[in-house]
Amino acid sequence: MDHLLNQSQVAKRLGVSRTAISRKLQRKRENGKSDKPFPEPDAFNNSRPLWTEETIDEYKANLERQTHCPSCGNELEDAEYLDNDQTGKFDSARICMNEYCDNKQYY
Ligand SMILES: [Zn+2]
Repeated sequence: MDHLLNQSQVAKRLGVSRTAISRKLQRKRENGKSDKPFPEPDAFNNSRPLWTEETIDEYKANLERQTHCPSCGNELEDAEYLDNDQTGKFDSARICMNEYCDNKQYY
């Protein structure tokens, strides 16, 4: 059986903060129509989501290929958003800057 990763381990594997993962999961709940939604958990442990390394690596590979907005086709631009956990660090991500586009997902 594949090794399962919890939210913190997923964050580490993707090189982002745990808060960023929480936010991705929240956005997934709010906006199921996204083209590259965060993957469904492969398992749960006491209702905490777990993912296989394979699932996360596949997601990461997709992210790395994402250079254009799936909604409007604009090139994604680098953006930073303030991470709300105690580190106060910024997470970097790419986002569509087209003001007429309703895709506000970070990649
Ligand atoms: Zn767009």
